[in-house]
Amino acid sequence: MSKRTDPRSTRFASPGAGWGAIGRQLICAADSLPGRDQPPALPAGAPGEVLAKVAAELGPRELSSDGVGESAALASMARIVHDFGLNLTHESCAAHLQPAPLAVAVAADALASATNASLDTYDSGPATLAIETWAVDVLAKLAGLPDTAGGVFGPGGSYSNLLALLIARDQAGAARGLDIRKDGVAALGSPVVLCSRVAHFSVQRACAALGLGEAAVITVDCDDQHRMLPSSLEAILADPGHDPVTGAARTPFAVIATAGTTDFGTVDPLPEIAEVTRRHGLWMHVDAAYGFGALFSDRFAGLLDGISQADSITLDLHKVGWQPAAASLLLLADTDSFASLDRSVAYLNPEDDMEAGLGGQLGLTLQTTRRPDVLKVATTLLAYGRTGLGEMLEACHDLAQHAQRRIESEPQLELVTGTTLTTVVFRYRCNELDSDTVNAEVRRRLITSGTGLIGRTRVRVPAVCEPRTCLKLTLLNPETDTAGIDRLFDEILRIALEVESEGLSRHAPDSHRRASLKAGVLP
Ligand SMILES: *Cc1c(COP(=O)(O)O)cnc(C)c1O
Repeated sequence: MSKRTDPRSTRFASPGAGWGAIGRQLICAADSLPGRDQPPALPAGAPGEVLAKVAAELGPRELSSDGVGESAALASMARIVHDFGLNLTHESCAAHLQPAPLAVAVAADALASATNASLDTYDSGPATLAIETWAVDVLAKLAGLPDTAGGVFGPGGSYSNLLALLIARDQAGAARGLDIRKDGVAALGSPVVLCSRVAHFSVQRACAALGLGEAAVITVDCDDQHRMLPSSLEAILADPGHDPVTGAARTPFAVIATAGTTDFGTVDPLPEIAEVTRRHGLWMHVDAAYGFGALFSDRFAGLLDGISQADSITLDLHKVGWQPAAASLLLLADTDSFASLDRSVAYLNPEDDMEAGLGGQLGLTLQTTRRPDVLKVATTLLAYGRTGLGEMLEACHDLAQHAQRRIESEPQLELVTGTTLTTVVFRYRCNELDSDTVNAEVRRRLITSGTGLIGRTRVRVPAVCEPRTCLKLTLLNPETDTAGIDRLFDEILRIALEVESEGLSRHAPDSHRRASLKAGVLP
């Protein structure tokens, strides 16, 4: 027997009997791990050392002539990700919108891989095609979109935002009798989009990719809760001004409201933004990558009032939804708006095949082969229902509230932005000249010690005009308890004290150190 195959496994994955072989391979790999201890949040050690250890485990950087065999290869990968990976189930893992995924979703995702179905045509995978339209309908209905709604899953919120702006751009062209695919973006004059100051950076990247340039993003001021001010939006739309380079009159074509800002979880006032956007005849996109999950819970659904008026919505179920990445969906209020993505390809979707019902979703996206990410999503929706998912969000919010109370009770900590969904932003107060450096060092030391993983960001702090480096918890693990959150804060405070007592000079980047020395602050 070749060492490439194991006695009980089949070489290729197939539905039915083949899935048993996949399960057995996973169990073998899991059993090969030494003990069943909970790994730390992150491997302890400096990043360079950790990466070098993984490289050493992998061996020479060349393809060996004989493989080590399936069991050995899989066992070695299992050990590498166990020893040197990230443990998102750890109580002190709270940095990003990156949850520990539901086991059932991971299992369903393995089935998706095993089918290797695509979604571009009927014959690339009938089942997954029907599952995707089912899940799109379920989620469009949850958002309150009309019956004309449609949608497409894709590789992330950044991509869904790109696709939304591409469609909005093309629709703006079509309204003026232009076909942007053929006529190019120049035919639109100086097209711009508007979003709040704290909207996701993927909006800028999308505009650059669409040939509009990052300068096409006009940012609107926010209130002190980081929510877009409709009055500022109105003022800009009343007089959008001119392109500073070409002098051409700016022509807004879309407004992007954020439902769940990445750092704060705050939601722009959707009804007011919808009213202003409609009145100006513009496309309204709601980036609900983070916040869409609020709709699973009666306690939080009201935050998203007005989302049903959107022309398009981005939602990421690999955030609040507990899916392995990627599980991002772009919903459109009107499926016909996908028109400019339509394509006829001789070997995929010729017209007579389409008429015979062999079409698929090729015309809804820029991808051709497309992984059926929806399989895990549909499994999760079936398994948990709205209430099951809503309760997970509520549990995470309760933990964020506990974190907030702890911050407020610690004299050494300052609450910067309280929780709306599951994040909380704060700072460590210290006497150092450069408290930004201390806060950043606290996070890095937590990471390299392996004891915890928290986020950082820069925020304008009340009473200080300049943005400051802040610490952030993004709590997405409903199985953590308040004692776990307290242990994380104990560790943050212990490390902060240690960093502070060592003095600034040890951690400051050279430029800081030089500036401080010049100012005579440090010995
Ligand atoms: C996470 C996020 C995105 C980007 O989504 P990815 O899946 O990481 O590409 C976009 N918008 C908001 C508000 C987000 O929080």
